[in-house]
Amino acid sequence: MAAKSKGAPNLYGSFVHSAPGQFLASKLGLPQPANLRRYVKGEPPLTGPVLIGGKGRVAEPVRALLSDYTFADEVSQGTKYGALVFDATGIGSIEDLSQLFEFFQPAMRSITPSGRVVVIGTTPELAGTVDEQIAQRALEGFTRSVAKELLRGATAQLVYLHPEASAAATGLESTLRFLLSAKSAFVDGQVIRVGKDDATAPASWDRPLEGKVAVVTGAARGIGATIAEVFARDGAKVIVADIPAAGEALSETANKVGGTALALDVTAPDAADKLAEFATERFGGIDIIVHNAGITRDKLLANMDEGRWNSVINVNLAAPHRITEGLVAKGVLKEGGRVIDVSSIAGIAGNRGQTNYGASKAGVIGMVNAEAPKLAEKGITINAVAPGFIETAMTAAIPLGTREAGRLMSSLLQGGQTVDVAETIAFFASPASNAVNGNVVRVCGQSLIGA
Ligand code: NAD
Repeated sequence: MAAKSKGAPNLYGSFVHSAPGQFLASKLGLPQPANLRRYVKGEPPLTGPVLIGGKGRVAEPVRALLSDYTFADEVSQGTKYGALVFDATGIGSIEDLSQLFEFFQPAMRSITPSGRVVVIGTTPELAGTVDEQIAQRALEGFTRSVAKELLRGATAQLVYLHPEASAAATGLESTLRFLLSAKSAFVDGQVIRVGKDDATAPASWDRPLEGKVAVVTGAARGIGATIAEVFARDGAKVIVADIPAAGEALSETANKVGGTALALDVTAPDAADKLAEFATERFGGIDIIVHNAGITRDKLLANMDEGRWNSVINVNLAAPHRITEGLVAKGVLKEGGRVIDVSSIAGIAGNRGQTNYGASKAGVIGMVNAEAPKLAEKGITINAVAPGFIETAMTAAIPLGTREAGRLMSSLLQGGQTVDVAETIAFFASPASNAVNGNVVRVCGQSLIGA
């Protein structure tokens, strides 16, 4: 997908997948990145049955929600599982944590390549007792550590469910279907919080955005172009926006996805007005906006000029904030709307030479935290992805040594593809993700940076 988003040649990855490279790597104990399984329409979400354990309140609802998956209850000799799912909502004390050991220890060697581990707990700060809060918080360290131990492209995540979610826990479904599929290939060691609201499943999980109008900024190339492709695949009508200078590439994206191109500099003072007018005239409003347009202007702070500082803060942070507020105030972003921002692991950990970029991307996280409760009153959700090393023109510009290190310094031992970021954004954008609000999910293969 997205020919325009190809990054630089992956020297180590190509070497280690050649016959002599594979031999050398196993002899020397060098890292061996797996080929990650990615979504292909019609292929099963997992490559084996789901082994389910735990005695909480969601194990039975999960079986009902995922009735098209195959489940097993006990480890059986020789069986490989596509996923291990553990209902940890019944863990109410420190002693109960032994249940994790009892379930996972015998099963750790029985996971298929690109398999999945999902632990479901209760949001710790909302849990009933002090003991339960402690034990629920412990799940995070457990799951992140499991993610670091898994091999061959397998991943582990934690889902915290609001304690007041209904018995059917339908709000969980979109998150579980995303995590228990090849769409979450490069998401690893993450925690996703799901609120108490119920959700309605789409008519088809293959086209969850059917009939929705989505705007993607910075869609001429890279991650933005792939987001547009994935949205179109999922049934959305897509407005792709980018600066006027990127017009030709933007038209290409628009043609490819059957979408509509809009020349728009997101930093223009009237950007929200222009977008609102365009979308209202053509489609009657907007359901989804993805603030993907972003730039880097790296320099050590001591050498940075005001122009570099201002342009990065304006494009990456001020513009998304102003446009969201404008679209909401005008009512152009409809009830049940979705705002998705693009942060970065540099906004979590900071990065040398990126004080401007790090500030802007951490500000994006602040925006999600601050806006989520306000937008929830209008039935709108706001979430962000924080990509790690993704193969694009942006990362192809990184010097060779740093680039190879950036790829290898993660649990999945490789860079991600633009489609990995796009799939996570599509999960947030789904109408069935109405209970998913205020999250920042890293799409970084559990990068050591920002850990
Ligand atoms: P890219 O440079 O390939 O594409 C960015 C697009 O944004 C370009 O088409 C550009 O023309 C457009 N753009 C820039 N300024 C604009 C403006 N003022 N108005 C409208 N459009 C504008 O970048 P990418 O790698 O695809 O990154 C996309 C997003 O992901 C950015 O927000 C970036 O910070 C973030 N990100 C990327 C990585 C990575 O590894 N590539 C990692 C973390 C975060």
